Amino acid sequence: MRLKRMMIVDVPIILDDGSIVHYEGYRVQNTLSRGPGKGGLRFHPSVTLNEVMALACWMTIKNAALNLPYGGAKGGIRLDPHQHCKGELQRITRRYTSELGGFIGPARDIPAPDVGTNEQTMAWMMDTYSMNVGGTATGVVTGKPVALGGSLGRHDATGRGVFISAQEAGRRRGVPIKGARVAVQGFGNVGSVAARLFEQAGARVVALQDHSATLVDEAGISIAAASEHVANTGQLAGFLPGAEASTETFWLVPSEFLVPAALEGQLLPERARLVETKIVVEGANGPTTPAADDILSERGILVVPDVLANAGGVTVSYFEWVQDFSSFFWTEEEINARLEKIMVGAFDSISSVAEERRISLRTAAFIVACERVLSAREQRGLYP
Ligand code: NAD
Repeated sequence: MRLKRMMIVDVPIILDDGSIVHYEGYRVQNTLSRGPGKGGLRFHPSVTLNEVMALACWMTIKNAALNLPYGGAKGGIRLDPHQHCKGELQRITRRYTSELGGFIGPARDIPAPDVGTNEQTMAWMMDTYSMNVGGTATGVVTGKPVALGGSLGRHDATGRGVFISAQEAGRRRGVPIKGARVAVQGFGNVGSVAARLFEQAGARVVALQDHSATLVDEAGISIAAASEHVANTGQLAGFLPGAEASTETFWLVPSEFLVPAALEGQLLPERARLVETKIVVEGANGPTTPAADDILSERGILVVPDVLANAGGVTVSYFEWVQDFSSFFWTEEEINARLEKIMVGAFDSISSVAEERRISLRTAAFIVACERVLSAREQRGLYP
């Protein structure tokens, strides 16, 4: 797919000590055929234009696979947010937003939080854009605080989508959630919510891993207690000293569902050969390497791909945008019910293609998405 357009901006700011620094910022719109661009804004020292281009392409696939009325986009600024105080981050965000000017907008391209950014970043972007256009424009970003037009249910949406995908995959493979053993890597926004929902549905979380520790307990780890420990200390280490195991042990724990929800490139070929699970549900973006994906498929392990499994977040972002347009806000029950309907519908259409063509869910998701983008492009025609 040919990339639509991109913008590189210089972001100069005055630091609190009076010195001036310049950062390089990007916004890439991969496709706009199905609607405005949609994708996160990342603040990280390793951000490059190439990375942002790849992530924007991924968003095209994810949005189209879920049939959300968006193209794909992504943004980033190469900086370490931990090196800046709140005031400096605010100036960086506002200058970046102003530099983008009309490149973004509720009908053009709608950023959201990603690595290193959060709802406060989105609030500053919304305010800056609104000041520049001379009127409140809540729909320019999603992932905002609820008080500024954010959506209820957004915090849990990605983990909830992971759980819904696991349920659908389990139903097709004859693996019920109730009584299932689950291993979850990553206990942040995605992993902790997914783990909680698995537990609530009667599964046992037998392995948990974050950056600080690997915990293994065949009897099941209490997710409420683990969450409380992480809320107090910032990490899993120290929560169940008797259950701590080596990092590699995590991949050896027998389970029905394995949920990598931490970082990219975690399921490597050597781990894929050893895992004892039935279904992998990709909570993180790109947690399985292509070679590992082949091994899992040869071993008959079903992989629910990231573009489907972790699309709950962007789906509720879509709900936020719709609610902002109508200035009419839904209850959390309505949001969760609509999320489930969209996720189950997407799973159904992708899995029908996978079954018909005897291909993986990942390949099927890409086919469904690309067909939707190409059909939109064809129907719009070529201007002029
Ligand atoms: P987060 O920062 O809230 O949590 C990340 C978790 O991963 C933490 O528990 C951290 O300790 C753990 N971790 C970090 N390094 C690790 C390592 N080396 N080994 C094991 N665990 C490690 O992040 P998140 O929002 O939960 O996102 C997790 C993944 O899901 C990322 O790939 C992200 O891009 C993807 N994702 C997130 C959302 C969302 O809405 N938050 C949406 C789509 C995709």
